[in-house]
Amino acid sequence: MHSEAKVEQTNTENCQVCGSQLDYFSKGKELACYDCGKMETGNICCSNGHYVCDDCHGKGCFEIVRDYVLKSRTANPLEIAEILMGYKDKVPMLGCENAWVAAGALISAIRNEGSYTVTDDQVVEVLNRTKRQAIGGYCGLTGVCGIAPAIGACFSVVLNAACPKDQETAQTMRVVAKIVSVIASETGPCCCKNFVRQSLQEATYLVKEILNVALENNQQQLSCTDIERHPHGCRKEKCAYFKEK
Ligand SMILES: [Zn+2]
Ligand SMILES: [Zn+2]
Repeated sequence: MHSEAKVEQTNTENCQVCGSQLDYFSKGKELACYDCGKMETGNICCSNGHYVCDDCHGKGCFEIVRDYVLKSRTANPLEIAEILMGYKDKVPMLGCENAWVAAGALISAIRNEGSYTVTDDQVVEVLNRTKRQAIGGYCGLTGVCGIAPAIGACFSVVLNAACPKDQETAQTMRVVAKIVSVIASETGPCCCKNFVRQSLQEATYLVKEILNVALENNQQQLSCTDIERHPHGCRKEKCAYFKEK
C-alpha cells in the first residue's frame, strides 16, 4: 500500500526496488534484472543501479488484467480501463502494463457489445500479442508507445489480419498509425494514463467507423487521480483529465 505521507510530487513512483530516481540512457547497456537476474540490454535503471526487466516489472499484473476483462460485461472500454488503472499497487503509474489495460479494455468492450463473437481465447490472444510488442520506455526510444500495438491487436484479431492478408492488415495498420498520432499530441512528458484514455476514446470512433460497433464513451467525465504520482511531473493544464482539486 502507498503511505499517506506527503511526498514530493516528482518523486512518488521511481525505482520499484529502492524508490530513487530513474535514469534514462540514450544508448542501451547490458543490465541484470534485480528480480530474476536475467541479463538484457536496457535503457532505464535507477541511480543505485537497479534494473527491473519487463517481465518482472509487470509481475502479477497481466493475470489481473486478463481475469478482469474476461468477466467484464460493459461495452464501455474507458470504464474498464479506469477500474484496472485504479489498482494502483498492481498497475504502475508508468509502464506497458497500461498497454495491457488498453488492449484488454477494448477487446472486452467489443465483445460485450455483442455484434462480434469474441472468444475467451481471442481475448487472451490480444493480450499476448500486446505483451510481445509493448516494451516499457519505447514510446520515447522508437516512437511506438505500447498502447498503439495494443489497439492494433484488437482490430487485428477482430478483422483476422495477418501477413498474407490485404485489407484486414491495411486497416489494422491505419488504426495503429492513428493511435500513434493521437498519442503524439499528448507528450511532454509521456503519461501512460493519458495515453490509455485518449487512445481508447479514438478507438471508440475507429470501432464505429471500421466495425460499425457503437461502444459507450464516458470520456468527458473522467478526471485523473494520479496527478501527484507522475515521476516526471503531471502535464496539468495540457492534459484533458487534469482537474484542480
Ligand atoms: Zn533502485
Ligand atoms: Zn526480471
